[in-house]
Amino acid sequence: MKKNDVAFLVYKPLKQRRKNNSFDGNDNIGALVIIDALNCGGIDVGFCSPETAHNFRIVLVSLTSTYDVIAFYKSVAIMPQWQKSKRAFKVVAGGFGMQNPITIRNYIDYAVFGRAHDFICKIIDLLLGGGCVQHESVMCLPDIHNVKIAQAPLYENKIHFKGGVWREAFTGCPRKCKFCYFTWSRKSTQNSCDYSQSILTDGKSPELTWDQMMLIEKKAGRIRSAIDGFSERLRFAYGKKISNTDIINGIEHLGSFGGNATVLTAYNISNMPRENESDRLELYETIARAKPKTRVILVLQSTPFRPSLATPMQHCEVSLYPATSSLSASVIFDSPKLRAMHSFSNESPYSQLETVIIERATEATDKLFYAICFSPRLKSLSSKEAISVIKKNFDLTQYLRRYDPEEKHPAWFLNGYISRDKIINISKKMELKMAAPTVTLQNDEVE
Ligand code: SF4
Repeated sequence: MKKNDVAFLVYKPLKQRRKNNSFDGNDNIGALVIIDALNCGGIDVGFCSPETAHNFRIVLVSLTSTYDVIAFYKSVAIMPQWQKSKRAFKVVAGGFGMQNPITIRNYIDYAVFGRAHDFICKIIDLLLGGGCVQHESVMCLPDIHNVKIAQAPLYENKIHFKGGVWREAFTGCPRKCKFCYFTWSRKSTQNSCDYSQSILTDGKSPELTWDQMMLIEKKAGRIRSAIDGFSERLRFAYGKKISNTDIINGIEHLGSFGGNATVLTAYNISNMPRENESDRLELYETIARAKPKTRVILVLQSTPFRPSLATPMQHCEVSLYPATSSLSASVIFDSPKLRAMHSFSNESPYSQLETVIIERATEATDKLFYAICFSPRLKSLSSKEAISVIKKNFDLTQYLRRYDPEEKHPAWFLNGYISRDKIINISKKMELKMAAPTVTLQNDEVE
């Protein structure tokens, strides 16, 4: 049977969001852009499963987040036809989750880093013609070598999908919060970002920066925004320029329009390096000082800190405890006009650890990663028990420890659009701020 040329792999996500692994929805908009770019270049793209991959010459894999690395590995790692020695097709993988490919290096031939819509056709043409790929943003696995995260202009074409029609409005973010992979890996092409594109939020509440939220002029039922740090000290040290007064003003602004309650989901980062109990109390006390005129319900959705790669915080230590999940559903403040509570679904330390292991993986991680994906015992345990079992059997130091900014990092090969030397300098300055008892915006210089 003659093989078809190219297909995207449909594999089972860790959490089923849609049928067809989200290719019909907006969760995988990047893959839809790649399909459109290939179609425009005259290359048809089908879909395959792990079992039918051998019917195609090239199989594309979309990794939308670090969790997809686990999902992909679970789907293919024990299948005979996916083993390097027997594989009858080339695998090309990319997406936002393509950051450290070491744990999946034996199941991928080419790892593509960054925005690839303007060179993906060349790569596929080359492979279909029997050639080998050499490109500064492509890693030829299983060798691990330096790569540069590709930047690309806005994608001009409209993308039609089940939820509607989408057109790219911005890339990157001009703000440069020091923990944020998005801003350090995607060069910003504009001065502000329109995070409120409702087509991407699936008709749910708009997602706005805190200062964009202050520009709302009428009652909004539901709003999502981010504060990313329990205290002013932490936020300023890590580049999030939101003061305690800004938080109070934001809550009061949402509660200034009359009508029914406004629900504000505020995304937060917990277990930041150097965070302590007084940082947490500072936020709770700040929230309690807000006096909205009409009812506001604030849901604090805290995600435990990960030292994202290629950011000024990639070398920072990781704290699994106190468990962010233990805060879930607890009430922070309650009055007739303001109810503040922790989200029902904060992430567990085990889930935090899984992603940190992938992002800081080296070849020495293989056995641990296999256990995380396939051990029935680990699956049956609570987060705390599973971490304790892992700690008894594996040394977690390389995943949890602080690295010196100048030291070789497990993901040494990943380079953003800002030079490594400059990132190291920013990291060193940030460390000085972190050590200070208070940080003000005056001494938080803008890089
Ligand atoms: S965390 Fe900061 S840098 Fe990242 S997208 Fe949000 S505002 Fe931009």
